[in-house]
Amino acid sequence: MALSECPDCGRLVSDQADSCPSCGYPFHTIDTKERDVAGHGVPALFSFFVPGLGQLIKGDYLGAVAPYVLAYLAIQIFNNLFHKFLALVAIWVLQLVDTYRIKRKTN
Ligand SMILES: [Zn+2]
Repeated sequence: MALSECPDCGRLVSDQADSCPSCGYPFHTIDTKERDVAGHGVPALFSFFVPGLGQLIKGDYLGAVAPYVLAYLAIQIFNNLFHKFLALVAIWVLQLVDTYRIKRKTN
């Protein structure tokens, strides 16, 4: 059992406690929210800007490389510029969904 400092009143409270006995600050809801941001929102946000980066953070190296391989293949396969663009958008959306899927698996 470890003690953690209450973010509201600063009192040391058992990390097993659901809320601070002094001020009633709820620990576990905050904990879950923070874990959610770290494990879900952040990788997805990285993936939003840099495809595969979210997967890389999660340690899924194949998943990190896959969008680039698929994008390369799509550019080779499609002659029409609009089709290339559509394929790249589809890959981007798929790997964003994949970032969320990885998070669900690790939870
Ligand atoms: Zn407190």
